[in-house]
Amino acid sequence: MNYRHAYHAGNFADVVKHVVLTRLLDYLKQKDKAFRVVDTHAGIGRYDLSSLEAQKTGEWQGGIGRLIDASLDARAGALLAPYLEAVRSLNPGDGVKKYPGSPLLARHLLRKQDRLSAIELHPKDAARLKAEFAGDFQVRVMELDGWLALGAHLPPKEKRGLVLIDPPFEEEGEFGRLVEGLIRAHRRWPGGIYALWYPIKDRKAVIAFRKALKQSGIPKILDIEFEIRPASSEPSLDGSGMVVVNPPFTLEGELRTVLPALHKLLAVEKPAHWSLEWLAGE
Ligand code: SAM
Repeated sequence: MNYRHAYHAGNFADVVKHVVLTRLLDYLKQKDKAFRVVDTHAGIGRYDLSSLEAQKTGEWQGGIGRLIDASLDARAGALLAPYLEAVRSLNPGDGVKKYPGSPLLARHLLRKQDRLSAIELHPKDAARLKAEFAGDFQVRVMELDGWLALGAHLPPKEKRGLVLIDPPFEEEGEFGRLVEGLIRAHRRWPGGIYALWYPIKDRKAVIAFRKALKQSGIPKILDIEFEIRPASSEPSLDGSGMVVVNPPFTLEGELRTVLPALHKLLAVEKPAHWSLEWLAGE
């Protein structure tokens, strides 16, 4: 387990992932009924952008660094507000020095009836996450294998909510595990919303992943792709994707407003594309 998210926190891929996450949570909050967020690969929750790791890559400057003070049109601004407010809540002054990972973002958007299960396998990261949420009865942090949790922790007792699956992609076979994990989880809880992050780096692997999802028999799969440059000759993170299963009916329209605004800010080299595609319908 060598992957350290501190090198990448707040980069373009985090921004897109976290914007989608906040749109999903904003939708869940429209009904009073309680929901649960299950974050299977949670990380440490709070990232210091002045740390050696963050400074070494400077990736956040091409992500949240470009967005935080950008002028946005009114519709995109309104849809991005829950995300930007969560980021600003950690940065009371000017600029951005701290960045909230997925569990902190989710926690920021929970109401008193909602719950978060945050799962992290790396012992040090899990300890930091436990310290972050110490005494918070709405959050349960578990040092566990997130893939196992997909079996054991679903469906949640609330029977309403979202599962975020955001593995590090440091080992071979992660795309396969993602498809298998989703199929297993969906069998246990077909009504849950699932959000799966993936890198656009190895294009053949992405094509195979999308094909496997199409053949999975799971209905209502929306695929979001966001590239910041055309395919590089050397393997590099040219873009990122999010697969959302059972997306709220509002999500596609919202993303058609938000993604072009983000793309304008975050794309570094043309032609770079973003797209929304249904891999499976009703
Ligand atoms: N979801 C986080 C966010 O958006 O802020 C970032 C997560 S990072 C991409 C992936 C995390 O998964 C790392 O913190 C890593 O230690 C953890 N991890 C790796 N393998 C795991 C496993 N099998 N189960 C749970 N966590 C795992």
